[in-house]
Amino acid sequence: MSTLNRRSLILGAAGLAALAMPGRVWAQATATGPHTLPALPYAFNANEAAIDAMTMELHHGRHHAAQVAGLNAALNGQPALAGLPLDELLMNLTRAPEAIRTAVRNNAGGHANHSMFWTIMGGPGGAPTGEVAEAITRDLGGFDKFKTDFNAAGGRVFGSGWVFVTVTNSGQLAITTKPGQDNPMMDGVRVLMGNDVWEHAYYLRYQNRRADYLNSWWNVLNWTAINERYAAARAGTLRI
Ligand code: MN
Repeated sequence: MSTLNRRSLILGAAGLAALAMPGRVWAQATATGPHTLPALPYAFNANEAAIDAMTMELHHGRHHAAQVAGLNAALNGQPALAGLPLDELLMNLTRAPEAIRTAVRNNAGGHANHSMFWTIMGGPGGAPTGEVAEAITRDLGGFDKFKTDFNAAGGRVFGSGWVFVTVTNSGQLAITTKPGQDNPMMDGVRVLMGNDVWEHAYYLRYQNRRADYLNSWWNVLNWTAINERYAAARAGTLRI
């Protein structure tokens, strides 16, 4: 590792430590590369109906931030890859040299997964609305069956991973799971919504009770935001 790389990693770690201090800017930890940590679109306690504020702060400010920093570090000295938007990077992982491919896969996947995850929460939960509600009825057997099947799929993920709803350009929905920080875009498929079933997502409040976390999570969904993602998917403008 070059001195410059080592220095940027050290600065990144210092930036992460600063995240715990009030008034600091998240982007300080990720200022050394093309990818940046998106700000949470709500306060840490906005998801208290399912997720405690401390978990939100650590999950965003440490876990997600570390993946952004790790992605930027992996892309150091790779201008062609560094110039790709995140979704194109995920759809073309074989372009990454073998020496960095696993680091790019894990960190780019994590960056995309968490960036999506924050935007679909912060809402009042309840039943789906709009065109997404119709698609859930058409493709997933209605909201009750969808919740049951989605939670069961999330419960079956062994160890760390995600449960997703994928969406095609024509608006077709399907439930799928991925291990680690993999993302359906690695298979060329866009994500409508998804839940993080890594223990860091729920352990402080739920400990080993993943099923309770999966059940509570619906209480903080933002169906307006999910409908916006659905419309974007059908318009061909959905990115992450
Ligand atoms: Mn996570």
